[in-house]
Amino acid sequence: MSDCVFCRIVAGQIPSTRVHEDEHTLAFMDLGQVNPGHVLVAVKKHAANLFELEVAQAEAIARATVKISNALKKAFEPEGLSVYQANGKAAGQTVFHYHVHLLPRHAGDGMELTWPVKNPPAKNWKATRRKSARNSARKAPNRRPSCSAPKSRRARGCGFARRGARS
Ligand SMILES: [Zn+2]
Repeated sequence: MSDCVFCRIVAGQIPSTRVHEDEHTLAFMDLGQVNPGHVLVAVKKHAANLFELEVAQAEAIARATVKISNALKKAFEPEGLSVYQANGKAAGQTVFHYHVHLLPRHAGDGMELTWPVKNPPAKNWKATRRKSARNSARKAPNRRPSCSAPKSRRARGCGFARRGARS
């Protein structure tokens, strides 16, 4: 028997309130409801974190996240919805089986996430962006255009470019 609590939930060895299930994902109500409607979307096949996900798992998680979020919006009518996912103890992960929190939000609900901005010099993050783009291109040669794509392709291929264009 696995000692991973989410593997045991997937296997039905631990009871859960299931709200969605497909080939790769299982979604169930979090036992610790921060707000009503707090759902966890987990992969069925064990992956400790984002870095261990297979592409098919990542795609299924994205689809399930959107589908369940829309269902939560209708059912609970929250003012907002937070999508939270942590990788590694330093990032706040406590159950080391990949999962995403879908958390309906309301003004003043007490849920907080602090952003202790460090403001590194611009030359540091530009170098990090170049290194990240090189590593991504090496690992996934057939993926969509990245931030390093020619300017004409950036608008449809890169969130950073789109965000910059709006501001
Ligand atoms: Zn597991």
